[in-house]
Order: sequence, then structure tokens, then C-alpha cells
Amino acid sequence: MERQKDSKRKSLLFRAYIWKSKITWRIAVAIFITLFVMQSLFIGAFLYKAEIDHSLQTHKALKNEIIASTVMDRMIKGDANPFFGEYGAGLNRVKHILGYKAYDITFELLRQEGDVNGLDASAFQDSMGYKKALAGEGYIDVLITPEDVNNLPFYIALRFDDAQWDKDIISALLEHAGLLFGLSLAATAIMLMFLGRWILVPTLFLSENLRKASLSPEKPEIEDYPYEANDEIGTAVVTVQSLIRQNADNINRIKSAAQDQIHKLAYYDTLTGLPNRILFLQKLAELGRAAVSDDGQIRRWAVITIDLDHFKDVNDTMGHNIGDAILRGVGKRLASALPDTAVVARTGEDEYAITVPMVTSITNAKEIGERVQGVIRNEPFKVFNENFQIRCSIGVATYPDDASDPEQVLKNADIALNRAKEDGRDTIREYVEDFDRAVQLRFQMLRDLRDALEEEQLALHFQPQLDLQSGKVIGAEALLRWWRPDDSEKGGTYISPGLFVPIAEQSGLIVPIGEFVLRNACRTAKTWHDKGHMVRIAVNVSGAQFHQSDVVALTKEVLEETGIEPHYLELEVTESVFMDDVEFTIETLMKLNNLGVELAIDDFGTGYSSLSYLRQFPIDRLKIDQSFIRNALKDEDDAAITKTIISLGHSLNLKVIAEGVEELEHEEFLLKEGCDEVQGYRYSRPVPPDQVMEFFENYTGDLDYFKKKA
Ligand code: C2E
Ligand code: MG
Ligand code: MG
Repeated sequence: MERQKDSKRKSLLFRAYIWKSKITWRIAVAIFITLFVMQSLFIGAFLYKAEIDHSLQTHKALKNEIIASTVMDRMIKGDANPFFGEYGAGLNRVKHILGYKAYDITFELLRQEGDVNGLDASAFQDSMGYKKALAGEGYIDVLITPEDVNNLPFYIALRFDDAQWDKDIISALLEHAGLLFGLSLAATAIMLMFLGRWILVPTLFLSENLRKASLSPEKPEIEDYPYEANDEIGTAVVTVQSLIRQNADNINRIKSAAQDQIHKLAYYDTLTGLPNRILFLQKLAELGRAAVSDDGQIRRWAVITIDLDHFKDVNDTMGHNIGDAILRGVGKRLASALPDTAVVARTGEDEYAITVPMVTSITNAKEIGERVQGVIRNEPFKVFNENFQIRCSIGVATYPDDASDPEQVLKNADIALNRAKEDGRDTIREYVEDFDRAVQLRFQMLRDLRDALEEEQLALHFQPQLDLQSGKVIGAEALLRWWRPDDSEKGGTYISPGLFVPIAEQSGLIVPIGEFVLRNACRTAKTWHDKGHMVRIAVNVSGAQFHQSDVVALTKEVLEETGIEPHYLELEVTESVFMDDVEFTIETLMKLNNLGVELAIDDFGTGYSSLSYLRQFPIDRLKIDQSFIRNALKDEDDAAITKTIISLGHSLNLKVIAEGVEELEHEEFLLKEGCDEVQGYRYSRPVPPDQVMEFFENYTGDLDYFKKKA
């Protein structure tokens, strides 16, 4: 009922609407013109026919006129020639008469008046008798016979003004024009009423539907056809409507399938089928929103992040197929070992994240971490009948204990995970607030360090190295200094390389920094050589530089660029470089050795060096770590280590240098043990280039110089 009313209202609307449409007006104009022209043609034809009968008509009309004229009065009175005098002239004054000739019954001319040129009664005569009328140029001649005028004995040949007749026709037409117009208009309106109902309204409805369908093909807002589809146009409209709806359905189906696919790709990891990091974050956000239960209790949950230890090695050595199988296996094990309420996601290459609601049975996040660790490490993964023992580092954080922002909880778990990795992997770390601050400070420092490199806040200081036997200066170590500007009175502070070098190493920034150091150190050494101080420059090269850049190429380039002789350059590396990739390290050190530069192992004794490796390396010098020297006088173990390093070095034909020599006693101890070279505050602190030059110039070359100084 409602629907019917509605469609009726709409159809009325459409009727109103048709008058706004162009096509309606075109059709209306076409119909109107057709009707008007047709009517005009019809009337024209009618008048044409009337013109043929014209003379007869005229004849009839004039008959009465003549009878009515005074001539007739006089004839009835019996005048022999009623046309004489004023009376004859009077006839000529009758409307439309141009002239006449009057005859008696014997055709004797009684009188003629006006234009009678060629007008003659005999002209009307033909074989059939008398013609009533003859047409001429602009006039019509008419013969009035006795029968026409009550058998009076006269013939009158009259000439009528035909132009006047034409004027009459036009005025008659004009008189009818209004009527014609009105008729055409009415007919047009009637035709439009039918055309509108049958063609225009459906067509406009169709065009409106198509317009809407093209505007929004997925959701065309089309209305039901308000008429019955009982003709071709109605069927077409209904068919088009169903096509539009089908099209919309198809688009929507394709779209939703694509959306599903996109959703899958965007939110799930294709390898394991687990949720990815984005979805995991969404789940966390959901948990965050539902943090307070109906009974007002805070819901706690744990976030556990997992990183497989040395997974890269498995991938590199065994191939990606094995790696992928293990990653899938880990995902499967995690998903099946945890309660259904847990969300397990793969958040990175070899990283997973889990969130588990803490309910009565699980109250400790670390316990969940331990369970996860057990699931991964307790049993090896079997791939192609091979067993792979996988270990992992785990970070744990709890909501809302560690952060009230769900995303932050994940970040905190990641921070804890990093700590677990730093602490030697295969371990679990719980988030502690301090980590976070430390991490933030490190990030800040990294940003500042980047600027420092660009803004030339980095400089080198140099610390002399002396030969213990002769007392001569034999070299200097380049030590990096970072003057970091701040708001303090001094305008900045020196940041220790011990603080910023590890950060530079982790970020890769060590590569450009290392390049800066090597280039500057060699340039400075060149200035010494130019002044005759032929001493060696020792430059620290970090392990990260070895792996992240081509140290050999850089060294070669800098040597060529600065022109110092290769044996005046010594590169100090720490034992850690040997631990990463022995083959590669040997190869690189060989190449450096071939260039002719010297190589020293820095901080010797603190790391883990295998004697067998040590023999393979083309090393020139061992540098005893300063901690042993510092304690050698108080601590027997440290003294013993120092002695051992010295004799080990010598047995391998290496020079031994001690750093951190602050006191005379240190010097005496080292001298006694046969140490070759020394470096330390006792002789000089690390100083800027101009001061080290001063040192070279002022120093006498005798160690007693420092006794006196002290
Ligand atoms: P390192 O190579 O073992 O450098 C020796 C460190 O001991 C220097 O600290 C130096 O100032 C300090 N030192 C020297 N003599 C004495 C002494 O008598 N007593 C005491 N207490 N300390 C002494 P610095 O300059 O703070 O450098 C620390 C570490 O930073 C260096 O240890 C080195 O590993 C690293 N480093 C410094 N410059 C660079 C560099 O240009 N590149 C790289 N990769 N690392 C650098
Ligand atoms: Mg060093
Ligand atoms: Mg050292």
C-alpha cells in the first residue's frame, strides 16, 4: 500500500519532471510545428479550391449587390436606360467594381464606365453558352445575365478588383491563424500526454537510472519502476534495472573478495598464516579497550616477543627452504602450546610476538616466557630428516604494569628482548623501566652523533707511544673526541668514545666516522713526517667497520692520498673481530698486511682469543689492556696476566705495548718484565694535534724527562 502510494507520487514527480527535459520540448515543438503546418496546408488547399470557385462566388455575391443598387430601383420604375446620368456612375462606385459595360437585351451598349479595356459581353460567349466569369491580370470580369436579375432586359459586364479579393483571403487567413495556433497547441498537449506516459516518462526514468548507476555503480540508488512493464519500453526499463543491480552485485562481490585478499595480505603472514605485526597491534589495541572487565577488574595480559637466535646462519648455510620450514614449525608449536585466548603473531623475519591474558592459572609473565622458551628449545625441529636445535631470546612485558598504552607494552617487550640478545641470547628478560630510558638516551645520542659528523664536532686527539728501552717516541694513537655543544657554561662537553663508539657501531655510522678518523689521522701524521718526526700513527678500527665497509680499499686510498709510508700506519683491532667470521677476518688482515700497514690487537687479554688463531694472523703487536696494568701492582693475577701476555707476544715474535701507564711503578714493572713499548697519562694524555707536535719537539727522548716533570 505504502509502496504503491510512493510509486504514484514518484510517477507524478516524473510527470512534472518531463517539462524540464529537453527531449520533451523538442518533441513538443516538433509535434506543434507538424500540426500547425498541416493545418495551414489544409486551409491553404481549401482556399485554393475556393479560388477556383471564386468567380462564381463573386458572381453570386454581386447579383444581390446589383439588385440592391438604385439602378435596379430605376429599372423597376420602367426607365428605358436606367444607366444614364448619375445613376450609371453610381454603379461604378459600388465596392470592388473597377468598371462596367451595360447592354440591353440586343447587346446594344447603353453605357460604360471606369476600366473597361478588353471588357466585352461577347467575350463571355462560347460554344456552351455564356460563361459567367473571366479572370484577367489583377481583375475578374463577370457577366450578369437577365436570369440573374429577375429577367430584366439587361446584360452587365462587370470588372472586379481581384487584388482586393487576395487581401480578403489574407485577412480571412489571419482571422483564422489564432484558431489554428490554439488548435495545434491543444493537439500537441494531448499527444504529449500520451507520449509522456508511454515514452517520455519511462525514457527519462531510464536515463535517470543509468545516470545514478554510473555515479555509483556499486550502490546505485535506483527506484522501482512506477508503472507496469507491459510494453517494450517498460520491459527495457525493467531489464536495464536488473542489469544495473546485477552489475552492482558483481562489483561488490569482486570488491569484497579483493578486500578479503588484501586483508589477508595486509594482516597475515603468508609463510606461517599467523597474524602479522599490524594485526597484532590491532589485537593489542582491542585488549587495551577492553582492559576493564564488567565487574571493574583490570584485565592483565602479558606480551612476549621472541627472536630466534642465529637464525640468519641457518638460512645462510642451509638455505631458505629449511629456514622457512623451521619458521613455520615454530609458529605451529607456539600456536598449539598456548591457550586459545592467546594471540600468536609473526612480527618479523625470525621474530614472533605473543599476547596471553593473565588469568588465575597464569599470573606471571615470565613463566609464560619460560614455557615459550621450552616449547622452542626442548625438542629439535625436524626438517628433511635433519634435526635443528633452535634457541631463542625472549622479552617479556605486562599490561598494564609496564605501560598503560598497549603499543608501548609491545615496545617494552621488544626492549626487553634486545636486552636478552645483548645478554648473550638464549635467555629471557623482563622489561624494567630503566631499559627504556637508556634506549631513549641512546637514540638521542645517535641523532646527535649524526649531526656531529656533519657539523664537524668530531676531532682527533693524539697520545704518544714510547719505546720503553730507548725512551724514544715511536708513535701516537689517534683517539676520537666528540665535543657536543650544550647549554652549559663551557658551551659543551667532551663525550667519551667509550660511550658513542658502540652506538655508532650498531647504527652503521661507524663507517663514515671511521673514514673520517683514518683520513685525519694520516693527514696529521703526514705533518709530523714533514717536520722530521718519523713516528707511527695508530688508528682504532672497530669490528663493525670490518664487516660493514671495505677497510682494505679505504686504507689503500688514504695511504695514496696522504702519501705516508704504509709501515707508519698501524691499525688497532680488538679481539672481538676474530670471533665473528674467522675466514673473512684472516683474509682482510692478510690484505692489510700486504699493503704494508702494521696491525695491533687492542685491549689484549680482555676478550677471547684462541692461540691457534693468533698464530695465523699477520699481527705485529699486542696491546695489553690498561685494566691489567692499572691493577698489576696490587693484584697478583693481573700481574701474572701481564707477564704472560708479554712472554706470549715475544714467543710469537710480536712486539708488546702496554697502555694505561700512569705511575713510575708501572713503568718499572713493565721494564722489568721486558715490555717493549708504553702509552699512558704518565707520558701524555691524549692531546690536540698542535700539542702533540709540541711534545715531539720538547721531549728529550729520555724517560727521566717524566721523572723530573712529576
Ligand atoms: P683504546 O683504543 O683502548 O684507547 C685507550 C683508551 O685509554 C683511551 O680512552 C685513552 O684516553 C685511555 N688512556 C690512555 N692512557 C691512559 C691512562 O694512563 N690512564 C687511563 N685511565 N686511561 C688512559 P678513550 O680515548 O676514552 O677511548 C676509549 C676507547 O674508544 C678506545 O680504547 C677505543 O676502543 C675507542 N676509540 C677511541 N677512538 C676511536 C676511534 O677513532 N675509532 C674506534 N673505532 N674506536 C675508538
Ligand atoms: Mg686503541
Ligand atoms: Mg685499549
